[in-house]
Amino acid sequence: MSAPSPAAILFDLDDTLIDSAHAAHAGAIAWHQEIGAPGTPDPERWRSIEIAWYKRFERGEATYLGQRIGRVREYLNAPDLPEEEALELLQRFYPHYLAATTAFPDAPSALERARRTGATVGIFTNGGFEMQFRKMKHAGIAHPWLKVFAAVELGHPKPQPQAYTKVAQLLGTSNITMVGDNLENDVLAPLQAGWQAVYLQRPGAPQAPAGVVGVGTLDELF
Ligand SMILES: [Mg+2]
Repeated sequence: MSAPSPAAILFDLDDTLIDSAHAAHAGAIAWHQEIGAPGTPDPERWRSIEIAWYKRFERGEATYLGQRIGRVREYLNAPDLPEEEALELLQRFYPHYLAATTAFPDAPSALERARRTGATVGIFTNGGFEMQFRKMKHAGIAHPWLKVFAAVELGHPKPQPQAYTKVAQLLGTSNITMVGDNLENDVLAPLQAGWQAVYLQRPGAPQAPAGVVGVGTLDELF
């Protein structure tokens, strides 16, 4: 990397360090069957509903709980499903999702290399701390030396500017390099905040725009 040596290196979690798309796919099939939902499991539809609701949360149009409820109601075509029931049903998704959660093969070594640069290394993720930490543990990357910044506890998700301000305050520096698979959240918004950023372009992801530092694998970093 040509950027100056960062004081902190932050990685996005989902689809950067852990293969969330795969876990969600496997989780959706098992969950659909377990709860006896009508029709055949449709993991692609589950995934696109999840992404759309998460975007609403990121734009501040839905609360964290609201997007959870909305996902279940939409997938089950049950707009009047009581909130409690939707949340209870979603709770039954997570064991399946967690069981299928793995780190990408390039993730553990990238974290180690980042640590050896002497920078503070952490995770900056748009989930809630408890769930994200459980996923990290299951994937074998919950190192005690990793700082974890989770949107729910921060009070602002990426790409809202306050999220980056808050993290920089907590780290005591803006000399931060963010690494992630989401162009908006992990690259463009961090650059706007005065950080450095690296776009991880996993297979099938959109091309990096001109001027953005992009890598095809975490093996290319540090
Ligand atoms: Mg991601």
